[in-house]
Amino acid sequence: MKLILLGAPGAGKGTQAEKICEKFNIPAISTGNIIRAALKNGTEMGLKAKSYMEKGQLVPDEVVIGIIKDRLKEDDCKFGFILDGFPRTIPQAQALEDMGIEIDKVVDIEVPDKKITERMSGRRVCSKCANSYHLLYKKPKVEGICDACGGELVQRKDDAPETVQARLVEYHEMTEPLKSFYEKLGKLVIVDGQEEVSDTTKLVFAALED
Ligand code: ADP
Ligand code: ZN
Repeated sequence: MKLILLGAPGAGKGTQAEKICEKFNIPAISTGNIIRAALKNGTEMGLKAKSYMEKGQLVPDEVVIGIIKDRLKEDDCKFGFILDGFPRTIPQAQALEDMGIEIDKVVDIEVPDKKITERMSGRRVCSKCANSYHLLYKKPKVEGICDACGGELVQRKDDAPETVQARLVEYHEMTEPLKSFYEKLGKLVIVDGQEEVSDTTKLVFAALED
């Protein structure tokens, strides 16, 4: 199964990607996480991406397309994958088509902007393994500590309110047109993001079944 998760920043794509990954045993690929790891390791790609990311802007298409091309060549993608945060622009979607990749479904998780801003302020991520948590909706077992690896939980720089605003603008302008792109291909399924993570997961799984 080859899936794309669409939705605004903070709509919960990453969390749902993990659930799908567990259930179907296919890798969840987050371009955001790959870029953040490159940034941390100080690679050339990380340096290129840094200024865009910190301002809440999209990283240039050729950079992320390169990342995805390499990642999809890896062995674990043979039986499918979940793309979380890619594509985010029409040229990125076109690049996937040009690579001859047959996407089965595109699940769009819809959450109103106002909710997004509320949610982002509570988001925390692990400084070691990038797992994501929320102060209200997805609490770690021990406050401030990652369940998975014991790393310290921090707020992402780009989750600051002004940056979130910029990311929402980018989303509506650059990413939302992908909905009609995939609708025309008959692949789009829309799911309303719920208050409870598990309720959204139920809707996502149901969307994957039919
Ligand atoms: P969220 O989904 O919460 O916005 P991500 O971790 O997916 O967070 O992305 C964080 C940032 O990484 C984006 O704001 C952007 O700068 C960069 N990025 C991630 N994926 C892409 C992409 N496909 N195209 C361009 N930039 C990207
Ligand atoms: Zn961790």
